[in-house]
Amino acid sequence: MNQSDQLLRFLFRERDVRGEVVKVSASLDAMLAGHQYPQPVKQLLAELVAATSLLTATLKFEGQIAVQLQGDGPVRFIAVNGNHQQQFRGVARLQKEVQGDSFAELIGQGYLLVTITPTQGERYQGIIPLVNDSLTATLEAYFNQSEQLPTRLYLHTDIGAEHCQAAGLLLQVLPVDAEKSRADFADLEILADTLTREELLQLAPEESLYRLFHQEVVELFPAQSVQFVCGCSREKSEAAIVSLGTEAIDEHIAEGKLDISCEYCNTLYHFDAAQLRLLKQNF
Ligand SMILES: [Zn+2]
Repeated sequence: MNQSDQLLRFLFRERDVRGEVVKVSASLDAMLAGHQYPQPVKQLLAELVAATSLLTATLKFEGQIAVQLQGDGPVRFIAVNGNHQQQFRGVARLQKEVQGDSFAELIGQGYLLVTITPTQGERYQGIIPLVNDSLTATLEAYFNQSEQLPTRLYLHTDIGAEHCQAAGLLLQVLPVDAEKSRADFADLEILADTLTREELLQLAPEESLYRLFHQEVVELFPAQSVQFVCGCSREKSEAAIVSLGTEAIDEHIAEGKLDISCEYCNTLYHFDAAQLRLLKQNF
């Protein structure tokens, strides 16, 4: 398996704490290809990809997750969608020129919205205001609120001209004996704090864990590949056209065509007047 795009879940055998480590690079390059995002926006998207992968891996069921930031800053909307198969896609919508590169300078006043859609069962939404000009602090606050489980998150990125990388580490208390697990968590947090950005980005996931926790009994679960998969299709574009209604379709027939461009992967779906007429017959 390509070690540069994988997620590894683990458990401390003698502690009431679990964890995950993720690295993405080729899949991140694939997601960013064809987009002209400013550097700080690429960086934030990369952090969100790593964060979404970690968040998705905490789910105990099959489904999808959408992690969105919305604000009044230059980045009006930025979101990554992921699923239990560790497939993701992401997009950013800008409303003015990006000036600074801090979280607050990008998003402004805003909030984090996490939508979890199980394959079977009820949809869940969590919303929280942005915390401390930091994506990690905001996500930690989300975990505290939604699961009431102390969670620590580390996210690092390297956005190069040719290649990009993102990596993340998550530690989370298990919902068992609260007092013991919190003490265990505090110990492990001190160790995790010593991991540098370079180590998390450059070492393979197992190596990062060994570097930090070689004195602990760590059980590793099978690694999962992390992939950029958009999920858009011509069929979905057709369904979107049908939902426009006959009047709108007639306007496009008069124009002679309708082009739908996927904002996630830039694929262009072209429909000429004859194809639009066929779609209209679906009413
Ligand atoms: Zn697409």
